[in-house]
Amino acid sequence: MKLLIPGPVTTHRSVRAALAHDFAPWDTDFVRLYHRLGDRLLRLGGGAVGTHVALTLPGCGHFVTEAAIRSLLPPGAGLLVPMTGPYAERMARLAREAGRSVVPLVVGAEAAVDPAAVRRALQADPGLSHVGLIYSETGTGVVHDPAAVGAVVRGLGRRMIVDAVSAFGALPIDLGQQPEIDAVVFTPNKCLEGVPGAGFVLARADRLAAGAGQAGSWSFDLADVAARLAARDGPRFTPAAQVLNALGVALDRLEAEGGPAARLARYQANMQVLAEGMRELGLAPVLPAGVQGPIVLNVHAPGDPRWDLQAFVDAVKRRGFVISNFYNTARPSFRLGCIGALRPVDMRRAVAAIGAALEELGVRERRAA
Ligand SMILES: *Cc1c(COP(=O)(O)O)cnc(C)c1O
Repeated sequence: MKLLIPGPVTTHRSVRAALAHDFAPWDTDFVRLYHRLGDRLLRLGGGAVGTHVALTLPGCGHFVTEAAIRSLLPPGAGLLVPMTGPYAERMARLAREAGRSVVPLVVGAEAAVDPAAVRRALQADPGLSHVGLIYSETGTGVVHDPAAVGAVVRGLGRRMIVDAVSAFGALPIDLGQQPEIDAVVFTPNKCLEGVPGAGFVLARADRLAAGAGQAGSWSFDLADVAARLAARDGPRFTPAAQVLNALGVALDRLEAEGGPAARLARYQANMQVLAEGMRELGLAPVLPAGVQGPIVLNVHAPGDPRWDLQAFVDAVKRRGFVISNFYNTARPSFRLGCIGALRPVDMRRAVAAIGAALEELGVRERRAA
């Protein structure tokens, strides 16, 4: 069974095999593994030892996003969130419930965040210390531009938190070129092609130290995690040891593939096959090609009265692929992921499976409702 969803992704069997070990998390062998993994992730994000730290918490992406907000924004500080879709809404909610003050910036569901609009919003409100940007908005499939938005943020002396959960490992990010980024957040189970169970933050050490004590939560206090790391100690609390070990193998595979640029090229090829395949089946992708990113493809639900999303998902599953059984777009759609240990040949099979599923359901009118 292949996962054709934008995370958790299909993994290579060598990654899953790395789960079949027991670890003592405070034994010197595991502590070495823990530090080595952090160093590799730091390099991947263009971070510099001394300036940046790579931190991990057990759990999911939302946990590390919340931890980054709590640890880097003082209580009551203002966060500008370009409202790119459901993940931006989630970041806004995490910040609000942590007592930070969120200012939403309207962004169309089919548009990239406009750096000029970010500039105007920041200039209008000196209380906005940070911008919270979703790099790849998994809800819509649009990829935003942290370098362009970051240049504006830097120019105005503000700071930025980047949710790179469905980007890191494929889409470029270079912390060395973007000193305005306080934190980049990601998980192992999307473009890094590892398994779920942990979250990561690459953060500026000085900014974490400056905010020490403001998290209002010991569990989510990244300054505390960083202090422990600086002492070259092991994890604070029990880590997702197997998940971290599997990520090490996933990083070996990323290197062998040729790094993030090569991975991005594979995902783009996957996207191409899926998008063309959908058109050949008479279906219409939601996004215009110009803003379609390489991570998620939303397809308009066909207008045929026999269309039923769950029945369709079940019929595709009988043919070897799991797709999402929900959608995030304004109009009904279905959602395909282009990421994970899958190649264009798998995508061609997926297109055939989707075509056969539509036939089985008798969906003849393929144009959007
Ligand atoms: C997957 C994802 C997350 C985190 O989701 P979790 O379910 O908490 O792991 C956050 N942001 C984006 C853009 C994502 O795609």
